[in-house]
Formats: sequence, structure tokens, C-alpha cells
Amino acid sequence: MARVYNFSAGPSMLPLEALEKAQKDLLDYQGSGQSVMEMSHRSKVFDDIIKEAESLFRELMNIPGNYKVLFLQGGASAQFSAIPLNFMNKNNKADYIITGVWAKKAFQEAKKYGDARAVASSEDKVYTYIPKVTKEDIDPEADYVYICMNNTIYGTKYPYIPDTGDVPLIADVSSCFLSEPLDVTKFAMVYGGAQKNIAPAGLVVAIIREDMLGNARDITPTMLNYKIQADADSLYNTPPCWTIYMCKLVLEWIKEKGGLEAIKENNIKKANLLYDFFEESKLFKSPVNKEDRSLMNIPFVTGDADLDAKFVKEATAAGFINLKGHRTVGGMRASVYNAMPIEGVEKLVAFMKEFEKANA
Ligand SMILES: *Cc1c(COP(=O)(O)O)cnc(C)c1O
Repeated sequence: MARVYNFSAGPSMLPLEALEKAQKDLLDYQGSGQSVMEMSHRSKVFDDIIKEAESLFRELMNIPGNYKVLFLQGGASAQFSAIPLNFMNKNNKADYIITGVWAKKAFQEAKKYGDARAVASSEDKVYTYIPKVTKEDIDPEADYVYICMNNTIYGTKYPYIPDTGDVPLIADVSSCFLSEPLDVTKFAMVYGGAQKNIAPAGLVVAIIREDMLGNARDITPTMLNYKIQADADSLYNTPPCWTIYMCKLVLEWIKEKGGLEAIKENNIKKANLLYDFFEESKLFKSPVNKEDRSLMNIPFVTGDADLDAKFVKEATAAGFINLKGHRTVGGMRASVYNAMPIEGVEKLVAFMKEFEKANA
């Protein structure tokens, strides 16, 4: 069996141990005589799976009791509409910080429902940095402030949590979920699509402070109403059972690895292998502002589009796949989520060194 090193931004690598466990359980999940793909979402055996997934989330992220943990569908993109529908409910205003395509899409969606305002943007420098936003920049009348914590396409991450005073803070953490400890109490809601760092595609996990719930607009589609989803324990309709099961296996893997502190340490090691190499390389450079660099998504360029293409082609042939940068920015990007083993990054850097020598 030859497994590649997959640097995809998502869907992305899953821990081998979790995949092997799923393989072992595939035909007969714990003596139930069926696979998790086949079982009723109302059965006791599935109920144990979703409850265990929630409990592991709470344990690993240290989520306080006054927060709900919801398993939702529609991708992060569906939450772009759900968030204004559920929360733009007092002054009909919200402040958005625009740090990339995903934040902008969320902002544009919110504008359909009310007075969404762009507080700051890093579009002037192709989103290669995170704007410094202080409490004074925030409209105290805003119903919430919205940020995208880790910008998957551009490789930036907030080096700070914005102080929004009494205005609730909401963060899309799709591409940095469970990559390091996060103080949930600083947020009214954090959410993310699972396909970056948690599970296969088809699942969104949303962690929402309870006092935020219950004021959705009347027109809110039932499926996008967080209160209804919370009251139904994420089982209002058929959830993505298999994906929730895979999520549970990945959470168990994280726990076995020592939790989020240990995961963070490993992620820093992996990211620094690349960032340190860019410092010494005469060919490969990071376009991202140093203090705002992501641990998960690491873009790099040679400055020559033809050479970039040659690199991607040769890397693919050598078993390092999906290194092409996002179609809107070009260059290369290595997404090194939790499941990417350190050997994958070490071998990639060795390959880059060879490529640099051969193309000097
Ligand atoms: C991938 C991604 C999205 C979009 O996720 P979907 O599940 O495809 O809707 C949104 N935000 C961020 C930060 C992402 O990385």
C-alpha cells in the first residue's frame, strides 16, 4: 500500500490510525452487525457515538457548560447565512473583518439581511496580513463581530483575539479547528467545516453560547435555526452519521496524542520546518507577514509561474500531492493539518532543497 503525502487544503488527510479503526469496524461496528453507514440515527448505538463525539469535543477544547456543541450540515458556507439570520436580531447591524475570500463571502451574505459593515480589510495586500482591530473600531451597537480566524487560502492566522468589548465575537475556525488550544469563553460562537482538520466532508461543528440562542428571525429556515438544532440535540433530521463517527475517531486520536497542547507543539514543529527553510532558501519564499503566519496552511512562491508549475508537477510525481496554490492566488500551498505526519514535511523540505539545487 502506497499512501501519498496529501497537502490538500480540504478535504484533507485523516490520521491513519483513525482510518484503520474505521476499516476494522466497517462491516460490523462493535458487534451491532452493521456498519455506521447503515444504522438508524435514532438507535442507541448511534446515540452513543454522537454523545461521545460531543463529550470529547468538550473535554479537548475545555468547553464550558453554558455552550452548546452542535453537529450541522450545509458546510461552513451555510453558516454564512445562518449567522445573520440567528444573530442580527437587535440593531440589525454586524461588523465584519475581511481577511480573505471566506470572510468576504460571509460578509456579502450578511449584507442580504441587514447592515453589515466591513470594519477592516487586508485586501489591499492580497490578504497577506491580519489587520489590527481594537475595541475603538467596533460599533458598540453591532449585534456581533465576525472574523475568520485562519485564512486557508492566504495562510494567515489571527495572532490575537480581537477585543470587542460587550459585542459578541463569532469566528470561523474551519481550517484551525483543534490545531491548538483556544479560549472558547472569548467567543459567542466558533464553528467550522469538518473537512479541513476533523473528519470527512459533510459536517459542521458549531460551539454556541446559550444566551445567543432563541432570537432567530421568523424567516429563518428551520434547518438553519440554531435553537431548533440545539433543542433537538443535532438530531432534528438525519445527521451525517458516518462523518460524525469519523469525527469521534479523530477526537480519540487527538486525545491519545496528548490533547491540544501536544498537537500544537507538533504543529509548530511542522510549520517551522517550512518557515525556517524559506529563510535560508534563495528560491522559495513565503508571501505572508511573519507575525500573522498560519500553522496549518503555508503558501510559498518562487516568483516565477513556470517554475512554480514545474515544481508542482515534479512534487506530485514524487508523492507530494495537492501543492498547487488556490486558483485565485497561484504559487504553492502546503496544508499541514493535524494528520500530516512530521515525516511528510521533512521529506517535502528535502525535496524542495533538491529542486532548488537542480534549478539554481
Ligand atoms: C473551506 C473553508 C470554508 C468553506 O467551507 P465549506 O464547508 O466548503 O462551505 C469556509 N471557511 C474557511 C476558513 C474554510 O477554510
